[in-house]
Amino acid sequence: MKNLSILGSTGSIGVSTLELVAAHPDRFRVTALTAGVNLELIARQIEAFRPGIVSVLNEGLADKLSRMLSGHRPEIMHGVTGLIAAATAGDADMVVAAIVGAAGLVPTAAAIKAGKDVALANKETLVCAGAIIMELARDYKVALYPVDSEHSAVFQSIEGHRSEDITKIILTASGGPFLEWPSARMSTVTIADALNHPNWSMGKKITIDSATMMNKGLEVIEARWLFDVPAAKIDVNIHPQSIIHSMVEYIDGCVIAQLGTPDMKAPIAYALSYPERVATGVTPLDLTRFSGLTFFKPDLAKFRCLKLAYDALDSGPSMPAVMNAANEVAVAAFLEGRIGFIAIPRVIEETMSAHGTVSLGTIEDVLHADRWGRNKAAEVIGALNGVFR
Ligand code: NAD
Ligand code: MG
Repeated sequence: MKNLSILGSTGSIGVSTLELVAAHPDRFRVTALTAGVNLELIARQIEAFRPGIVSVLNEGLADKLSRMLSGHRPEIMHGVTGLIAAATAGDADMVVAAIVGAAGLVPTAAAIKAGKDVALANKETLVCAGAIIMELARDYKVALYPVDSEHSAVFQSIEGHRSEDITKIILTASGGPFLEWPSARMSTVTIADALNHPNWSMGKKITIDSATMMNKGLEVIEARWLFDVPAAKIDVNIHPQSIIHSMVEYIDGCVIAQLGTPDMKAPIAYALSYPERVATGVTPLDLTRFSGLTFFKPDLAKFRCLKLAYDALDSGPSMPAVMNAANEVAVAAFLEGRIGFIAIPRVIEETMSAHGTVSLGTIEDVLHADRWGRNKAAEVIGALNGVFR
């Protein structure tokens, strides 16, 4: 029996994780759940999964949740203290890090320091603090299992091979909803257009990141740290069918890939049950249904966010955290209708240009860079003055 603490249980990854738990009650039990603001859903999850600890965003929501519960009564906490309590819960064997954004960093680091293995969906943690997190994982002897489908594919394609034999990691990308749009039309993108992902159903922030291709940029940085491979050896191929989830090339010219129907339950299940495999209900792949699988290079002039992520890795320690912060602020502004879609890379680029990169020794240093990036990006958006609406 594996006891799970699920951070971000009301999100897209959190809900899929709980569906797997419900399908395998003999294998998994829930010890802690955390949510932001969705009280209706977490109240139902509490009844169904009976965790010992629950945390929500703030005190007001914690009080309200407490009044909503009639059956099972867990300890109800809130804020960062609550997230850390859930991430370090004594009987948790594994923490599922499924909060979105840099808000996931502190609880994920706390889980590692408490010796918990981590199923990592929250890629922003590695983008902001990759070197520190990987060192913590080594020091505390914990395993980080990737949930991101591309990294799960690499993880599965790397098993049993020597890292010195790897010549390239090839991350695949669907290209998002604007793959076929001419650059000139990108200034007309609406919120609904950008939220309409062709292959994957996900939370709003990552859906916008997929439309700008910043998601693939974040994944390049995530792969750099998870697999200890320099950026020069990480390529991105556009593969619109999303059937091959990523590949690893070796010195002998062989390439190993992992394929499957695009459904996050498969990589989540592998992270939860590694090294075993469990049934997921994911539709088996029938390759005869596809007339062709295609691959081509991304257009870095059209998808500037992907280029900015490679630049951030190149610039050094604090730049990826600043880039990530600027991206979070710009995506939120786009979703609130305050800036246009094509202003997103502009806000990130201007924020990065203003940043003098510094070394990062501690999580506190990372949080400082994150705050700096958020403030600068807000300033850049203010100066745009609605021009890029
Ligand atoms: P989501 O928006 O659907 O859910 C996010 C969860 O985090 C929710 O439970 C929300 O309540 C919680 N949350 C948000 N802000 C918070 C805060 N400040 N404090 C505490 N809790 C907070 O997001 P998602 O799509 O499930 O993605 C979660 C993470 O997994 C992201 O890092 C994303 O990049 C990664 N990921 C998602 C997918 C996917 O298919 N959805 C695929 C690969 C990777
Ligand atoms: Mg992914």
